[in-house]
Amino acid sequence: METVTFENFIGQEHIKAHFKEAGSSDKTGHAYILEGMKGSGKRTLAKLFAMTLLCEAGDNKPCMQCHSCKMALSEGHPDIITVTHEKPAVISVDEIRRQVVGDVLIRPYYGKKKIYIIPDAEKMNVNAQNSLLKTIEEPPDFAVILLLTDSRQSLLPTINSRCVYFALRQLSNADVGDYLMTKKGIPEKKARVFASLSQGSIGRAMEISESEEFIKDYEETISFLKRSKDMPVSEILGFAKELAGNKENIGTITDIILLWYRDILMCKAAGRAVSLTFVNETEYIEQKARQSEYEDLNKVFLSLDALKERLKANAGTEASMDMLLLGL
Ligand SMILES: [Zn+2]
Repeated sequence: METVTFENFIGQEHIKAHFKEAGSSDKTGHAYILEGMKGSGKRTLAKLFAMTLLCEAGDNKPCMQCHSCKMALSEGHPDIITVTHEKPAVISVDEIRRQVVGDVLIRPYYGKKKIYIIPDAEKMNVNAQNSLLKTIEEPPDFAVILLLTDSRQSLLPTINSRCVYFALRQLSNADVGDYLMTKKGIPEKKARVFASLSQGSIGRAMEISESEEFIKDYEETISFLKRSKDMPVSEILGFAKELAGNKENIGTITDIILLWYRDILMCKAAGRAVSLTFVNETEYIEQKARQSEYEDLNKVFLSLDALKERLKANAGTEASMDMLLLGL
């Protein structure tokens, strides 16, 4: 796999610029919060920053060649500490004391700095956060602490006020799609769909594109959508039952159906196929747009909304799924 660098990391220019500047000067902050959704690249950015701070070349980016960079690339740098936790939902006070507060009393082993990365920092309970406070207030010169989180609201105001804060911006579908096409060699027709389903997260887009199960569900759903008009009711109900039982991917499958009907609606409104997600199904979508009334399309969107509500509430979905698919 290609090594991620500041150059080929897509987007987040404001954060990269700061990290490059801070990494090569003495103006490094001691504590940072990086906020962004899952898969947005918080860890990758944190690691690039840590590598820059420790790189023996002393440039504004990791050289990827020196001993320090090589140790970091193989996840074996003794001065980059990534906090781990035993319970999936909680980072405990003991874990913060042992891995950060106690450890920061010891000077770096190899480089000039020690970098502590705390992923899922919102999982620190109040005691854990309080135990970290003093270290953040009066850190030794060599320490840099990076708190990674999907919501800084979950961190105490006292922590928030003492950290330099950066929010990762959501990427556009076009950016994610370009990344999938150019870096991962995914054909355009799929890259566009995966990007639309990813909500601006390259991590999520990668997860989708690498899941064999998802690809299978995706292909079955598209094939169903194209044939549904001519299917007997029993077959439609059978498909609905199968989907409702697919707990893991039902949310994504619902999103595929939503994107599909949004394409049909867009096409109907514009009178031709413009900026479609499903670029290689243009002919089918145009035909469907001509055949459908706005009222029918609206019913489909209402059913989709109802289904999504039930999914959110963790309620049974089979009946809603029947209604939706029969309405297509
Ligand atoms: Zn280096």
